[in-house]
Amino acid sequence: MRKGKTPEFKSTDPVTLAELRDWHEIRVTCRACGREASLFKSHFAKRGAADMTLREVMTRSRCSSCGAKGEADWAVFRMNRY
Ligand SMILES: [Zn+2]
Repeated sequence: MRKGKTPEFKSTDPVTLAELRDWHEIRVTCRACGREASLFKSHFAKRGAADMTLREVMTRSRCSSCGAKGEADWAVFRMNRY
């Protein structure tokens, strides 16, 4: 499977952080400013958000570039090397 082709989870899927594995890459795009970022499960580990869906987490997240809240578009990909 080629990276970037088909997401394993899309922003409409009710996937929780607990369901993600370390080799899942969350690619986030800010709809407000277009900033792209790659996040991993470990990024959220300290927030005690394991039972939250990724959708909820992203809705509450703020863009680190422009500060827009809830503007993140995201998809989860499986990294190639695993
Ligand atoms: Zn932004």
